[in-house]
Amino acid sequence: MIDKVTIIKTTRMSEEITKKYPLRPTIKNAIIQTNREVFVPLVMRHNAYRLDALPIGAQQFISSPLTVAKMTQYLSPEGCDSVLEIGCGSGYQAAVLSHLFRRVFTIERIESLLIEAKERFRHLKLGNIHTRTDDGQNGWEQYAPFDRILFSASARAIPQKLFDQLREGGILIAPVERGREQVITRFTKQGGKITEDVLEVCDFVPIVDGVVR
Ligand code: SAH
Repeated sequence: MIDKVTIIKTTRMSEEITKKYPLRPTIKNAIIQTNREVFVPLVMRHNAYRLDALPIGAQQFISSPLTVAKMTQYLSPEGCDSVLEIGCGSGYQAAVLSHLFRRVFTIERIESLLIEAKERFRHLKLGNIHTRTDDGQNGWEQYAPFDRILFSASARAIPQKLFDQLREGGILIAPVERGREQVITRFTKQGGKITEDVLEVCDFVPIVDGVVR
């Protein structure tokens, strides 16, 4: 649910993104349908449509909308049923995905952030997002296999469990640490084997072990 004034703002933001990274119409539409203001702390609402990451508390950040748009497009969500996100944070990325997938599963290790994200999903009536407080490196066995998996924090390595929870033909996108750099990496599962290709250098917060309640 989104009002006309907000659509004007999200449309303008999607055009700013497209100048830097051309979006396919399906992805652009998901960005336009997602009210970013709701995911940003009140005192920063005036910056909600800038292409910047912003602090959300617990020393975490809502990713820049440019990053969210890119990660979403890299997932190639068209025609997919389910996606698992590791690192729900504010919930903005999950909300964008909810316009592209029938079911979104998102895991966050910091319970206080997840409580706030769930409230936002309720407010926006995004009924197809399922949340869980856990270390996302465990995946979510109950709903596996997933068509797509997205890491919203950077991994030293992808746990085998997550490749096991990826459907045959599925894609997993993750920022991965390579020496001093992080690179967005696309892992594809074909014939039970994982192949990977590096997409671009990036800057995400790291994956941290364990849960904070
Ligand atoms: N997708 C978010 C980005 C949040 S930043 C958004 O759109 O706002 C990355 C998030 O990953 C942080 O909230 C951090 O707490 C979370 N995170 C880090 N390690 C994790 C882990 N092992 N399991 C689940 N979440 C984790």
